[in-house]
Amino acid sequence: MIEGNVIAALATPVGRGAVSIIRMSGSGAKEIISRCFSRADKLEHARMVLGIFDAGEIKDRVLVVLFESPHSYTGETLVEVHCHGSPEIASRILRRLVALGARPAEAGEFTRRAFLNGKLGLDEAEAVGELINAKSAAAVNAAMDGVRGKLHREVEGIYNDILTVISAYDAAIDYPEEDVEEQTAEQALPVLGNAAERLNALIASYSQGEKLRDGFRVAIVGLPNAGKSSLLNKLLGRERAIVTANAGTTRDTIEESYEYKGVLFTLVDTAGVRETSDEAERAGVERSTQAARSAHIVLRVTDISSPVFLPVETSGKLIDIYNKTDLKSNARVPEGAIGISALTGEGVEELKEAVYAAATGGELSADGVVLTNARHYALALAAADALNAGINCLVGGGTPDLALGELGTALAQLGKITGANATDDVLDDIFSRFCVGK
Ligand code: GDP
Repeated sequence: MIEGNVIAALATPVGRGAVSIIRMSGSGAKEIISRCFSRADKLEHARMVLGIFDAGEIKDRVLVVLFESPHSYTGETLVEVHCHGSPEIASRILRRLVALGARPAEAGEFTRRAFLNGKLGLDEAEAVGELINAKSAAAVNAAMDGVRGKLHREVEGIYNDILTVISAYDAAIDYPEEDVEEQTAEQALPVLGNAAERLNALIASYSQGEKLRDGFRVAIVGLPNAGKSSLLNKLLGRERAIVTANAGTTRDTIEESYEYKGVLFTLVDTAGVRETSDEAERAGVERSTQAARSAHIVLRVTDISSPVFLPVETSGKLIDIYNKTDLKSNARVPEGAIGISALTGEGVEELKEAVYAAATGGELSADGVVLTNARHYALALAAADALNAGINCLVGGGTPDLALGELGTALAQLGKITGANATDDVLDDIFSRFCVGK
């Protein structure tokens, strides 16, 4: 057996393609590859070498790249085998590596090793996960900022400022005269105030971060036959919903997403809202009422040729749409509403712009540091509570012990964001949500 706890996994999705990549990490990786790759002697750091991989019953012409420790993703010796993109070949190569002493990797184990070896902060490792799951350009960019350590540096800066204050008090304890404590408080308060301000800005950025990550939910409601499904298809740019001339075709809700200016919009097409006796339709109507209530944006579609006002309950923004403008009826599009034809596409681009403007309030900006992760948000809130309590103790002029206790709590919470003091349970929970091979 090979020494050094080598892990191996398929790094690309299972399936057919041009190339599949098998990754292997650990100090014994070089020895394993030397036993199955014809030109292992030619391997050097970060250089691709073409040769034959001998997997026993099959051989494949592959490209192998070696990354020497510590200059690799995991910080360990890392080898990638780029083989032909057939599940059969990839699985035989993986089995061969395992037979030679590697162990199949667990979900997120490569990234976990990168974290444990100090290559990534915990927040940066989590950003890798967010990056993989990102569904829009805005989400990719926000996650990429996280991967590049923008949040990490900000949280570390706040952490260090609080730490400086605690250290100053520790030093002052050696001189227990009152005026030294007073002096220390005088110096500490501006530093802590600044830290609290930065922390509050981070917390406030989360509502922006959530939108960058998940986009917006847009419910399409209206009476049967108003043209909701036709509008959904036009917004998506493809046929998704069944469109028929019979009222009540869309009984279930349909969810599909489109991207506009890099932001994700998830459309929920709902059953035509109306009084109904049919059981299945009643359930659909219930779902659509729910969808409208929880949507960020509600598109209320009215047939301009038979305009009937449909009451809608929502906490989001309501956009009124008058559809079928191509019918050239005498009816006019009322002030504040948008006229479209879901049949010809007229007005649909304007509608997309209006939805974007209503959702983002003009621009959705990822400038500055943006919190996108719910775990980080909860920890930042807890840290801010403790920090503010600490500041209040100092302002009150009491003994610094209480304040220092609070500041210590704030540090502990911030440390859980960057991973400075994350427990195994937290790590298990975070990395188990990654895919195998990442
Ligand atoms: P839904 O029940 O609200 O989902 O309505 P559908 O999208 O199924 O459309 C109902 C009927 O109206 C279908 O026959 C569509 O072809 C038609 N329709 C939808 N939009 C338009 C439009 O802009 N112009 C015209 N002339 N017909 C439309």
